[in-house]
Amino acid sequence: MHEWLIIGGGVHGTAIANKLLKATDTRLQDICMIDPHKAPIQRWIDRTAATGMQYLRSPGEHSLDVGSTALYKYAREKMGGKELFYSDFNRPALRLFNAHGAALIDEQHIAETLVSGTATSIKRISGGYAVDLDLIDGASTSKASIAARRVVIATGESHLDIPEWAQGATNVVHLFDKQKLECALAATPQQIAVIGGGISAAQCATRLARQYPGSVSLIHKTSFRIHQFDTDRCWVRGNCLEKLKAETDYSKREKIVDKARLYGSFPVDVRDALNTAILNESVCCRQDAVVAARSSASNGIELQLESGERQHFDLVILATGFTRGFANDVFISSAIADLGLPCTATNMPITDKYLRWSQDLFVSGRLAELTAGPFARNIFGAQACMDRIMRSLRPTRFKPRELQYYHYAKKRG
Ligand SMILES: Cc1cc2nc3c(=O)[nH]c(=O)nc-3n(C[C@H](O)[C@H](O)[C@H](O)COP(=O)(O)OP(=O)(O)OC[C@H]3O[C@@H](n4cnc5c(N)ncnc54)[C@H](O)[C@@H]3O)c2cc1C
Repeated sequence: MHEWLIIGGGVHGTAIANKLLKATDTRLQDICMIDPHKAPIQRWIDRTAATGMQYLRSPGEHSLDVGSTALYKYAREKMGGKELFYSDFNRPALRLFNAHGAALIDEQHIAETLVSGTATSIKRISGGYAVDLDLIDGASTSKASIAARRVVIATGESHLDIPEWAQGATNVVHLFDKQKLECALAATPQQIAVIGGGISAAQCATRLARQYPGSVSLIHKTSFRIHQFDTDRCWVRGNCLEKLKAETDYSKREKIVDKARLYGSFPVDVRDALNTAILNESVCCRQDAVVAARSSASNGIELQLESGERQHFDLVILATGFTRGFANDVFISSAIADLGLPCTATNMPITDKYLRWSQDLFVSGRLAELTAGPFARNIFGAQACMDRIMRSLRPTRFKPRELQYYHYAKKRG
């Protein structure tokens, strides 16, 4: 039986494994990580590459490693190059963040803990849990079960938001559906529509404009919102968290967290890059909503817009993000049913302050939002969630350490 089983080897799962190895007496053989990808943080690498982003949105204090100086130290000692951080907030270059992540995974041998598979269900056994999974071995799959004393669920956001008009349509792909997107772009489409008004849509349109100048239209429903971060920083400083903690009705907490997320927003540099592409006539931008689509395999797709206009494209890329909640998540739904776990109507976990969903069963990332706040899903959230989980092992006086990770930002005012 493993000491720790981490379900999901993404940004959160990897940061948790690293912290266990560095900050506790946990040994490599005590940890098992389940993920369908071939390597840790692969989904992060794929999704960020799809957007074409050059710099992260979050500051350099937030990384996969413990403490707030790790990324700066790595940049100074190992990369030494210029343009590794951007703007007053020291936002790290994606290539720096990924190189640091790869070095960390290598140094701590985290990939050795990875079992390639998808968790399908979880049950209590004497002394811990048994997780059933579909093991992936090349093109074939088989069933297996892994037992552990403690389990952390860090499965991130898996369910892509596909608007009703796009369901079943051909020549429509989601930005984060890697294989389909690569395949669609390989067919060199002449006219491409990107649908969405957030950071990924803006970055994707700007990226494609370089590759297909004059062929890209960005269709966004609402006006662009310019914000440095995707949530107000009061959530990191703690004062907003206090208000969340005071709310005992979890469906209300869900609304508070949802409202706090600045959906459909992006920082100034992303807007500037998009504006340049618009001025160069590489991208055409239009505020309108798609209400219907008619596609044919041979003749692209026609979008019917709310304004009454119809536009024809060869390819439509949805940068519409993810569905809210976990009602569609098979593993989460079965865990709730089998273990009788408390949750909201959208399957959001109701946990204690240590992110304990049940005895020795923890959550991290988006699943932790109703307790750790809207930043829980971000890179910062990986450290904040792990701090809480570790406190459960030695429950002294509880004091979330979110503040520590923001001391640089606070210094800057
Ligand atoms: C394009 C993009 C850019 C972003 N930029 C930033 C940024 O600059 N700063 C910031 O702070 N945040 C950013 N975020 C938000 C957040 O940091 C990332 O989404 C991050 O990857 C979340 O980490 P995670 O581990 O929760 O989820 P993921 O990285 O998605 O990892 C979850 C893993 O769990 C696996 N999994 C899912 N279900 C199962 C299952 N049943 N069994 C086994 N494994 C499973 C998945 O395959 C995946 O590998 C960004 C997000 C996106 C999409």
